[in-house]
Amino acid sequence: MSFVTGLKCRECGQIYPLQPQGGCAECFAPLEVMYDYEAIGRALSRERIAARGPSLWRYRELLPLESEPTVGRSSGFTPLVPAERLGAALGLKNLYLKNDSVNAPTLSFKDRVTAVAINKALEFQLEAVGCASTGNLANAVAAQAATAGLAAYILIPEDLEWSKITATSIFGAQVVAVRGNYDEVNRLCTQIADRFPIGFVNVNLRPFYGEGSRTVGYEIAEQLGWRAPDAVVVPMAGGSLVTKIYKGLCEFQRLGLLENEVHTRMYGAQARGCNPIVEAVQRNSRDIRPVKPHTIAKSLAIGNPADGYYAAGVIAESGGWAEDVSDDEIRAGIRLLASTEGIFTETAGGVTVAVTKKLVEQQRLQPQDLTVLAITGNGLKTLEAVELPPPPVIEPSLSEFERLAKSFSGPAGIHSTSRASAAAQA
Ligand SMILES: *Cc1c(COP(=O)(O)O)cnc(C)c1O
Ligand SMILES: [Zn+2]
Repeated sequence: MSFVTGLKCRECGQIYPLQPQGGCAECFAPLEVMYDYEAIGRALSRERIAARGPSLWRYRELLPLESEPTVGRSSGFTPLVPAERLGAALGLKNLYLKNDSVNAPTLSFKDRVTAVAINKALEFQLEAVGCASTGNLANAVAAQAATAGLAAYILIPEDLEWSKITATSIFGAQVVAVRGNYDEVNRLCTQIADRFPIGFVNVNLRPFYGEGSRTVGYEIAEQLGWRAPDAVVVPMAGGSLVTKIYKGLCEFQRLGLLENEVHTRMYGAQARGCNPIVEAVQRNSRDIRPVKPHTIAKSLAIGNPADGYYAAGVIAESGGWAEDVSDDEIRAGIRLLASTEGIFTETAGGVTVAVTKKLVEQQRLQPQDLTVLAITGNGLKTLEAVELPPPPVIEPSLSEFERLAKSFSGPAGIHSTSRASAAAQA
């Protein structure tokens, strides 16, 4: 059933067999999975996709497995929700949210990339998997390794959010906190992968990991009625997702699955405290100048992004742009999304919403643009970031509530006073 023909170096074109390998042995550039698109085109149709279950495996011909998936079977096919109230607040009339904050099993878009990588680890008959993670990947790898019955070794920067650490350890993974930032953790994992027989999903399994992100693009197109949107705003860490959404849309066009041509502008979003890709885009370059991250958006805190060069390229090529926002703007973005759409996203989603606001102000996004925001993670994982005041505490007495209600805005404030005065007049 496989339509995969091998691995290919993105720079020198060297071809490799399908094996755990992170980069080109000749030039150290990243490797990409190659597909037989003609055969896929014969095998895949809108009807065939639409008849399948609601997971990323509905696009299985486009995913690099040789056999049926056994883990991550309910990952993907997250809701695409129209966002009228957020749109009104931002000045966008055609706004949608791709809501990966409810992805399965661990509430972030990393469930997709992990589903592909862990199935691949099983095919390669590896006995252990691992990752270098800014949090969400740790959760996803630990959970899916547990499903697969594989040992998991997860390396994280020491300062990660408590909930992300707990939601990794709980699955029985061996979690190691490293005194250093993500880039140092990642370098260590590369060394470990050379020495130990561990499939690190974003190191020696990285070519397969990256492929899972294309399904965000496939789903957006399918859920829009087989159309590519005008614009997508994507949070960036290593810079893979933004490139893969675009690749997914272009592949659908190539396979004749779209109603329209892909003219989608890709917009990248980062926190000001870790903005190496934004900085490159804004000086019209693809060359990344690494930074030392300092931001509440820890899931995006990669100072030396592995796919930064390609992310900057896709953003420029597509006619998009990249912007960054402060930590306070990130918190405001989280609150705005929650209070308008009832979706509680983590810091990365706050980055996306806040950057969208900026892009509208800059008139890079026009009110009529069919715009999709990639909401990639869940707010319950980064509770400490939002810094809301605790609620007022009262005795269980109506009079105490009534006293308090005078300070409420909204129905409780209005009703209690109007009924009370009506009762007083009667
Ligand atoms: C990892 C991550 C991203 C960015 O992914 P890259 O492909 O590394 O750019 C975005 N949002 C969340 C919540 C993430 O965990
Ligand atoms: Zn090469």
